[in-house]
Amino acid sequence: MRARRSALVVAASLVLASAARAAAPVVVVDPGHDRLANLRTEPIGPGSATMKIFDGGGTHGVVTGIREPDLTLAVSLRLRELLRRAGVRVVMTRTRTAGESMGNIARARIANRARASLFLRVHADGAASSDARGTHTLTPALRRGWTDDVYDRSQRAARLVQAELVRELGFPDRGIQERSDYTGFNWADVPVILVELGFMTNPTEDRALAQPAVRERAALGLCRGTLRFLGLSPARCVR
Ligand SMILES: [Zn+2]
Repeated sequence: MRARRSALVVAASLVLASAARAAAPVVVVDPGHDRLANLRTEPIGPGSATMKIFDGGGTHGVVTGIREPDLTLAVSLRLRELLRRAGVRVVMTRTRTAGESMGNIARARIANRARASLFLRVHADGAASSDARGTHTLTPALRRGWTDDVYDRSQRAARLVQAELVRELGFPDRGIQERSDYTGFNWADVPVILVELGFMTNPTEDRALAQPAVRERAALGLCRGTLRFLGLSPARCVR
């Protein structure tokens, strides 16, 4: 009898655990790029004749030589930990920097399939001038049939994440820009933003982003902004 009762307790707690899992919001974290660029092309949106390369490969640190795909993965893996601890389910588009980049339709499809509450793309910027610096967040431009279903929610996510990220990193606030030419935005059926943590072509920001403590703050800012967007307390992002 006792064995039977404990079996029932186990069964009940399994049901509760799976219900909690089902209720937990899903965030798809997309560390930018991969070890290798991919110069094949894909349409920039569903049904479009405009083609764009899968992935040019990203930038690198002007002083440190650190490659963007390694930086974005390190911050994203730390973000995964923080979000999980806060009760969010996390799906990663990649967990290693190992091969040719999968391209942006494939990344968007991972987010769509996961029915993500947010598709969060993590990048760092590069510019011809080493003076360019600061943090900004990109969000889809409005286009009927492509982004109208996710436009408002993406804007809201961008505002919340950008504010927390700037607060944590202390880099200049470059604000939010809408982009109509981002394949990964146009194919997304879920709210989507792309953060540019800072400029790897700026010596100050490159050196900063190489430091574990600064990467930790970047992950914390991303976690806090994401939780705000999900309607959860940012205090749940704890190291
Ligand atoms: Zn990038």
